[in-house]
Amino acid sequence: MTDTRTIQRLDSAHFLHPFTDHKALAEHGARVMVKGEGIYLWDSEGNKILDGMSGLWCVNIGYGRTSMSDAVYRQMQQLPFYNSFFNTTNVPAVQLAALLVQVSPPQFNHVFFTGSGSEANDTIVRMVRRYWELQAQPERHIIISRKNAYHGSTIAGASLGGMAGMHAQGGPGVPGIVHIGQPSYLEGGAGMSEDEFGIAAAGWLDERIRELGPDNVAAFIGEPVQGAGGVIIPPKTYWPEIQRICDKYGILLVADEVICGFGRLGSWFGSELMGIKPDLIAFAKGVTSGYIPLGGVLVGDRVATVLTEKGGDFNHGFTYSGHPVACAAALENIRILIDEDLVGKVARDTGPYLKEKFGALREHALVGHADSCGFVAGLNLVHTKGATVFDNIVFDGDDGVGMICRGYMFANGIIMRAVGDRMIIAPPLVMTRDEIDEMVGRIRAALDDTLAELKRRGML
Ligand SMILES: *Cc1c(COP(=O)(O)O)cnc(C)c1O
Repeated sequence: MTDTRTIQRLDSAHFLHPFTDHKALAEHGARVMVKGEGIYLWDSEGNKILDGMSGLWCVNIGYGRTSMSDAVYRQMQQLPFYNSFFNTTNVPAVQLAALLVQVSPPQFNHVFFTGSGSEANDTIVRMVRRYWELQAQPERHIIISRKNAYHGSTIAGASLGGMAGMHAQGGPGVPGIVHIGQPSYLEGGAGMSEDEFGIAAAGWLDERIRELGPDNVAAFIGEPVQGAGGVIIPPKTYWPEIQRICDKYGILLVADEVICGFGRLGSWFGSELMGIKPDLIAFAKGVTSGYIPLGGVLVGDRVATVLTEKGGDFNHGFTYSGHPVACAAALENIRILIDEDLVGKVARDTGPYLKEKFGALREHALVGHADSCGFVAGLNLVHTKGATVFDNIVFDGDDGVGMICRGYMFANGIIMRAVGDRMIIAPPLVMTRDEIDEMVGRIRAALDDTLAELKRRGML
């Protein structure tokens, strides 16, 4: 039952995976992960692989933390579940809410718990509309998001997100959600400095608000750094200008920090690094380092005051809102982040070191651009390098060069994700300088292998 072929056969026979082409999966068989320790994974064939993606942007404290399993075990024995409807509560949920308030920016004093990041964003859609109803401005219902954003996979999450491939399936989505362009300097910045482009890209929000009529707009939502869209790091002028525009029209600013929260960018929340003061923050992933599912919404005072003082019942919530075992896992995870100063380490030591070492990959013949922010990083694979990043000649989008490269990453014992021809990482925050050297060495070897393969195929 535990041999790889048997697992793969049962897997493709019965397990429908997220975002997966099942016909292709059945042909090759899934890679079976069986163990994790620190920054490494082992598959069922005994291969040891450096996990450059922290699972799925979430295992911030690394794998194999026994204090996490101890905390979860203790809570399961004490009280495995109780709901928080009907005027009841539980101790870990209360303790976690109080701790989240401590580690989050000062405008946050309330937390709404969910089971995932998608549910957090669903909650935000209902909460911002409820807020404007309570403010006697129910016509303010439109939420502005961005193309190529990722906000989850529930119907509201997919509608908020800007993924063309998701919008093309299973529609129509939630009404009253519109999208503006993303602040990708490589995509839209030709002829401008980064700072100029940041202001111009934020200006698209102002333009759209005026088109829609400011009195119809409820909120703007964005990831401080876009994750699944390909680690799109905005120019530093972008977010402060977005804040200014939101303030000008009185619309709510929502930061989806499902990836950026809990130290990913070298700050507790990405909003702090970007210099903005959001009204709501969606979180998940790093809150438990993925050990147990948990998500939620940090609710700023502006919204919380209205909801709690004028709101009466907010008819919204989940069976697992404030799940005691998930909250116990989050408490221990945050204790580890604090005690080991993992956020500070990324900010001051390993983040800058990664920037230097990963950035040096731009010398490689296949790499047109490479950058990082804290512990997220991405590089662009290009056919031919030009004098500036805007003169690079890219591969034909249908060539699948990113997927070829991803295969060689695996073969070299490193997990790197491909988003088109952009290769991205988000390593565990515990990664040391030596491990960064090892990771970048493996990436370089895989890039060499990819280059050789493309030459063999006559694609260069
Ligand atoms: C992963 C992710 C989500 C969705 O979280 P799930 O837990 O998968 O529902 C939402 N927003 C961002 C930015 C994400 O990266």
